[in-house]
Amino acid sequence: MLKLIIFAVAAFVLYKLLTGDKRKKEQDKERDIKKKAAKGELVKDPVCGTYVSLDSDIRVRQGDTVHRFCSYECRDRFLKQIGHKPPAEQVEEGASDSESDA
Ligand SMILES: [Zn+2]
Repeated sequence: MLKLIIFAVAAFVLYKLLTGDKRKKEQDKERDIKKKAAKGELVKDPVCGTYVSLDSDIRVRQGDTVHRFCSYECRDRFLKQIGHKPPAEQVEEGASDSESDA
């Protein structure tokens, strides 16, 4: 009987330890993101608020500021917000289409 109680307590402690550890890891992750953001290693996606690594290739330069985005969808939305047209639509009028190379 005593063995059973000890086993139950041990299992309970183990369970608490594991679940507590998981929660701690989540908190650590969150803290890590905030720390990196404070250090400038992560920047906030101005559209959806997600933290994006500085390595992100999805970026838009606006004056001296470089904005980074989690996805092209967010980038496009941002470009629309600032009224910037994507390069594909900035085709000059009167461009010669007779000289299309074969
Ligand atoms: Zn985003």
